[in-house]
Amino acid sequence: MRTLESDILFTPIPERIARLRELAYNLWWTWHPEAQELYRQVDPDLWELDYHNPVDFLRDVRERRLQAAAADANYLKQYDAVMTSFDAYVGAKETWFTRHYPDSKNQSIAYFSAEFGIHESLPIYSGGLGILSGDHVKEASDMGLPFTAVGFIYPQGYFRQRLDPSGWQFAEYNKLNFANIPAVPARTADGHEVIVEVELPGRTIYAKVYQFQVGRVALLLMDTDIHPNSPQDRELSARLYGGDEEMRVAQEVVLGIGGVRALRALGMAPTVFHMNEGHAAFLVLELARELVQKGMSFADAVREVQARCVFTTHTPVPAGNDAFAFSLMEKFFWSYWPQLKLSHDEFLNLARQDQSWGPSFAMTALALKMSHHANGVSQLHGHVSRGMWQWLFPGKSRDEVPIGAITNGVHTASWLAPELRQLFDAYLGADWEDQVDDPITWKKIYAIPNHVLWEVRRKLKRATLEFARERYQKRFAFLNQPPAVWPILEDDVLTLGFARRFATYKRATLLFRDFERLKNILNRPGRPVQIIFAGKAHPKDDPGKHFIQDVYQLSMRPGMAGRIIFLEEYDIAIGRMLTRGVDVWVNNPRRPYEASGTSGMKASLNGAPNLSILDGWWPEAYNGKNGWAIGEEKEYSNTDEQDWHDSQSLYSLLENDVVPAYYDSRDSNGVSARWLDYCKEAIATVAPQFSMRRMLAEYMSQMYMPAAEEVAKL
Ligand SMILES: *Cc1c(COP(=O)(O)O)cnc(C)c1O
Repeated sequence: MRTLESDILFTPIPERIARLRELAYNLWWTWHPEAQELYRQVDPDLWELDYHNPVDFLRDVRERRLQAAAADANYLKQYDAVMTSFDAYVGAKETWFTRHYPDSKNQSIAYFSAEFGIHESLPIYSGGLGILSGDHVKEASDMGLPFTAVGFIYPQGYFRQRLDPSGWQFAEYNKLNFANIPAVPARTADGHEVIVEVELPGRTIYAKVYQFQVGRVALLLMDTDIHPNSPQDRELSARLYGGDEEMRVAQEVVLGIGGVRALRALGMAPTVFHMNEGHAAFLVLELARELVQKGMSFADAVREVQARCVFTTHTPVPAGNDAFAFSLMEKFFWSYWPQLKLSHDEFLNLARQDQSWGPSFAMTALALKMSHHANGVSQLHGHVSRGMWQWLFPGKSRDEVPIGAITNGVHTASWLAPELRQLFDAYLGADWEDQVDDPITWKKIYAIPNHVLWEVRRKLKRATLEFARERYQKRFAFLNQPPAVWPILEDDVLTLGFARRFATYKRATLLFRDFERLKNILNRPGRPVQIIFAGKAHPKDDPGKHFIQDVYQLSMRPGMAGRIIFLEEYDIAIGRMLTRGVDVWVNNPRRPYEASGTSGMKASLNGAPNLSILDGWWPEAYNGKNGWAIGEEKEYSNTDEQDWHDSQSLYSLLENDVVPAYYDSRDSNGVSARWLDYCKEAIATVAPQFSMRRMLAEYMSQMYMPAAEEVAKL
């Protein structure tokens, strides 16, 4: 049985700093480094050991350490400052939302996603989609939106990546200890814990709802690992993207249908429902069922659901969109469609997609048909999506297909290095964070003296290289072997970063296509280059795992060893360290398969320009001065030819542009003005336009508010 926090398990905290506990239970600390400092300073080693998890930390920490902090005037000053800004944040009456939408007090938004990437200590995300959801929730809190997020707590999370000595990825699952995460059971107005019930074939499944506080926003996460579910059903939400098709339908039924019921149990009636990717699309059925059960016709119910729902698609690859065999749908929904007053055929036709292997029920089709507002996540991806789903809208031309585009962004405070924040505080004006999406704010970047920015960038790189060396040593300590290559990575060498999911379309091995040429680039006397790789392949993606193994093994070869390393366990912590500390962010997907990509935005924000294919967000950002564009904006019918062209372009950009810009034209202090032009231009152009603030303001004006207006007309 899972027990939740009981005071006895915490180390006693001196009264003077007792609110460290309260702070640990609001994930606000995840984007406020000064709040994290309050824990770290008490015991830096333990803070690392507990993987930056304050709840865990407050259980493990020695009482005398807390007492020492409580007696330290300097510490108390920081503590008081953090608590003051926390209180001001949580209690603010005026926010972006009240300023921009003063008449919308009664509107609210429910946001559904299968994964939320908030912090490394909460491993319930796999990659870009989850990080985006996490950033979305944090920004919704910053802007003061009336917003509630819904998803799953996966007690075993997403896997922890290990590589065997040959570089083959294997997965390690660790059970989350609920006492060590900032979860509290969600409670109804009259104080009851919330357990939702959902029908699955031949049984009822129960999900307990936990509430996580993310600043001002509630994140509701369901857990099926509770009594009286069967052992199998208790495993249902154990892992993110685990299990077979049947498990996946069951998960999505609980997410969509159970999620709506969780909101209702808490007395919530959101105006707008946002499905972040098709995983949550069953929620439209539940909304329709509620209306039909109140006596509405299905056709009228659909009109209301369409008004209320907005949908974001993320996947430009047909196979990446969930689609379930009709037989599976029959098994799960035979008792549900009568509640919608639909026949078998009418129900299945709601989302029928014919495939080579037979008709299927496509979650993206369901979501698109049941929401009036839909979008892709970059302009190019919007265009690709309109082509992919045109068949759903007979008689419409591709451009008329009702899928718009809102390009992704990143949550500035979560991804910006604290050292740069200090610099921005000094040069951009005190209120720069309130104007984070305004390009004018960022023009002041050019006023930062070159040597000052160079010094900060150099410091950030050193910290990242040190971090990489430690991680590398830890890996071999775990394998009980000496490091395969040592020493690795040199300070002050031009460092490229490549970290992302190892899906094959991301072509992690493209750089290795011409081994000799790469070797020359890495080892030119006086102008060496080094590369840090990281990334996970999906546990079932063997081709992706082969890519990891290839990179790993190639990195050991003479001429590469020490200059290229692969870091295992890619997660938010690695993402944060790499995007802030490398010099150049490399991204070479096979166009047009990258819906948006966000890691390059994080790097640019920190002054590391992109070297990227013109795919996803990059065509919107690239201006010739803020990074480099690999290859051409064209479609290839032959992927080999595409790979060849792109690799040639990548090599010549490195040889002729990137490396010279970094090493040549150094002044007497070793500072390269040309390089800093790229850095400043990257920050100034990417930080505002690809901020989560800009993105969410667009969701407000293009999706949420128009939907709310339609709802008001019903
Ligand atoms: C930002 C981020 C991603 C998304 O990166 P892409 O650019 O979409 O590949 C994935 N994983 C982690 C840990 C991240 O921080």
